[in-house]
Formats: sequence, structure tokens, C-alpha cells
Amino acid sequence: MEVDILKEDDKSVKFVLDDATPQFANALRRTMIGKVPTMAVDEVYFRNNTSGLFDEIIAHRIGLVPWRFPVDEYRLPEKCDCEGDECPNCQVEIVLKKEGESFVKAKNMKATDKKVAPENPEVLLVKLLEDQEIDLEAKAVLGIGKDHAKFQAANASYKYYPVVKINGKEVEDSETAARVAPEKVKKAEGVVEADEQVVYAMKNTVDISEGDEVELERSNDKFIFTVETVSGLEPKQIVKKAVEILEEEIDEFETSLKKSL
Ligand SMILES: [Zn+2]
Repeated sequence: MEVDILKEDDKSVKFVLDDATPQFANALRRTMIGKVPTMAVDEVYFRNNTSGLFDEIIAHRIGLVPWRFPVDEYRLPEKCDCEGDECPNCQVEIVLKKEGESFVKAKNMKATDKKVAPENPEVLLVKLLEDQEIDLEAKAVLGIGKDHAKFQAANASYKYYPVVKINGKEVEDSETAARVAPEKVKKAEGVVEADEQVVYAMKNTVDISEGDEVELERSNDKFIFTVETVSGLEPKQIVKKAVEILEEEIDEFETSLKKSL
């Protein structure tokens, strides 16, 4: 299996996965979406709330805020040594206290661990008027997207890598060639004879002339992945973590298989 990164920025990564199977590609996609742990607030205790919004609405909004956190320092509560009994390795205390006319934003929430902070500090939680106050404590934990959407790490998808052939020979840059190809080539099942329109659309990308046979196929072992983070994790961290999780699952399977044989 080979990975080649095509494009990368703070929010997303696009890469080619080569020499894999559709089953593996799908397992990777599902793991990135549903099993990579991220941090979110799970419980909120209100000491005072005289704002215009009910406690439940504010708690819900706080719950949807993604948090940046040191990935290797926190564990899922069920996998922590404390066995879910709430310790600094599996939970973070958060306080929010503000009064008087103002906008209460995500950045006003302060975590006991300075390395934990809202991914987007400008998310608006509630607006306070004069004489209004909000004072609460919250608890953030790790969780996975499979259990609750607020823990979802990423939007991840893949498509089959296109293979463009002209007169039976694969072109060098199939991805670009497939992108510029007109609809009649994209939708055709099998070979299309290049006419003026096809040549016009593709001539800057590939060597093509009228009468050539053009074919667009989908590779069954090469995939283009797009992973966009919707959490406090970086896109590459999500891919890495998903691979670790798949490895752990295979190990678990192997261990239990050995026991039962
Ligand atoms: Zn713990």
C-alpha cells in the first residue's frame, strides 16, 4: 500500500491510497469518521444563569464546541486506568463566568489544562444584557463519533481513482484528464470516439485528436481520499490515529482468535 499526499492545509488533506482494496478504503473512512476520539463537553453544572437562554440550550451549544487537546495525553474514559472514575487523564474541568452586557464566546471558557482550548474561540454561546450573569462549570471528555455526532473527528470520503485511456494506452495524468473530460466521456460505459468537443475539452491535458478512442474507467485498487477535520484534531492526525485504531482492532481480533482456537 502506498500513500501520496496531493493537497494539504490546516483543515483538510487530500491523498491517494494506492494498492489497496475497496474494503480497506471503506474501513479507513469509517474509522476516521466514527472511531477517532475527540474532546467535547459532556456535563455542565450551572451555578447561575440569568441570561435569556435556558440552561439546556446553553449546555447544548457548549457541547457542540470542538476542543483542541494534546492527543497523546488523554484517554477515553472507558480505556483509562481509573476505569471511568474521572481522573486528569480522561477529563478536563472547564469554567465559564461572565456578567454584564457582552457576548459570551467559546474563548471565555477556561480549561484547567492550559493545552486544552476551543478550536474556534469566536463561537458565540449567548448574549448577556446588563445585570445578567452566567456562571458554570463543565467537564470535557474524549468520545467517538459513533456514540455521539459532537465527537465526530472528520468528514472523510473517497472516490475511485480514474484511469483515462486513449487508444488503449493509459495517459500520464489521469486525474486531470478525467476532470476536464466532457460528460459524454464520463458517462459512457466503454470507449467513446473523440469528436471536436472531446478534443477541445481535453487537448490541453492529453495528446488527443479527432477519431481517437477515449475510455474512462475506475481503478479498483487506487482511491482519492478527502479528509476534512470538524474537530480539534489536524487532518493528518486523524488519518494516523485511524490507522492506529485499525491496528489495535486487528490485534484484539488476533488475541481473541488465539484464545478460542
Ligand atoms: Zn481516568
